[in-house]
Amino acid sequence: MASITRSPARTVPAFTLFHPRNPRRVSRRFLGIPSAFLLDDYLPRYQLLTSVESSKKRSLAYAHLRECNLCPRKCGINRYETTGMCLIGAKTAKVNVIAPHRGEEPCIQGHHGSGSVFFSGCNLRCVFCQNHVGFILFHFSIICLTLFIQDIAHQRNGFDLTPQELAEWYIKLQQIGRVHNINLVTPEHVVPQVALSILDARDMGLRIPIIYNTSSFDSKDSLQLLDGLVDIYLPDFKVWKSSTSKRLLKAEDYTVTAMESITEMHRQVGDLSFTSDGIAKKGVLLRHLVMPGKEDEGMEIMRWLGENVSKDLYVHIMEQYHPDAHVGKKRRVARRVRFVDASGDESLQEEVRYAEINRAIRDEELSSVKEAAVKAGLWRFCEPHEGQFHL
Ligand code: SF4
Repeated sequence: MASITRSPARTVPAFTLFHPRNPRRVSRRFLGIPSAFLLDDYLPRYQLLTSVESSKKRSLAYAHLRECNLCPRKCGINRYETTGMCLIGAKTAKVNVIAPHRGEEPCIQGHHGSGSVFFSGCNLRCVFCQNHVGFILFHFSIICLTLFIQDIAHQRNGFDLTPQELAEWYIKLQQIGRVHNINLVTPEHVVPQVALSILDARDMGLRIPIIYNTSSFDSKDSLQLLDGLVDIYLPDFKVWKSSTSKRLLKAEDYTVTAMESITEMHRQVGDLSFTSDGIAKKGVLLRHLVMPGKEDEGMEIMRWLGENVSKDLYVHIMEQYHPDAHVGKKRRVARRVRFVDASGDESLQEEVRYAEINRAIRDEELSSVKEAAVKAGLWRFCEPHEGQFHL
């Protein structure tokens, strides 16, 4: 049975193109959704698994937990007895927030929000982590589970939930929150628990797409376990140079791993496709956060994506970088260093950590990455601040 059906192109709201000579200027074209990206209907991939395939996935999930090499850290430990670099064991996943979320791309959040599950812990150690401080609200209701301000990425803060309890939350998000999808945020280190939770939720009546929202520091094994369970991959491609990933992500092999992971994700689900209401149902939505002084790396990433993944890849070039986590914090033993501001005035200031990325990005840095994307042949871009669906 096919999971998707396609129909001829039809008239829908505009999609967005960056102007080739001025990427901040947006060209609007009122075209139909190309039939290759339009779905009449959609049945999530996990609904298509046979009972034999589901049982195999369950066995594989347990096996991975007994000797965990599920991410490129390759700790090789039994997570029923100890924890590896991600700090998370086997029986539960640690969760910081579960809630309908309206901070995602329009085609993901739709009208009712994306049913987001923010996992605690992470297998990267980004010094600029944009999730370093969690959420300001404390809230516990029938469809929200939220902790007070916490570092959700680098510490073991959060609620311990079994796969079955996670599945019950997915059902609440679907039935009461009426969300468009289940959005698993930073789940690389809890893929077995996530796989089991999706299978449990399927048996409980889940029928909305699953999003795997990842840093792309995934292993082939974990992506194989997810094949057939995930509908939309939402990978970041953060930096290009291994010297940068070593310094800023604490993972020298990040770029090679991200290239392999994104290629495999695209092999599984293809380019992003929508139903006629403008909601994404299947495919890859790639994010790149432009970093201060790293626009050359963003440009390389765009070139690689256009040449090696797909020119029809749906790309969100993000501009919301802000210094966070360890960036801009005082050193324990601080020296005073010469500082030149934008107007050329010099002063002596106390040295801070990761000073090279301790600022917002500049317009020209953003423009360079967008121009490189257009030059690479990419054309499907997300412009969320325009406040409507982009196809
Ligand atoms: S998922 Fe955690 S325990 Fe497993 S290899 Fe990665 S860091 Fe180590």
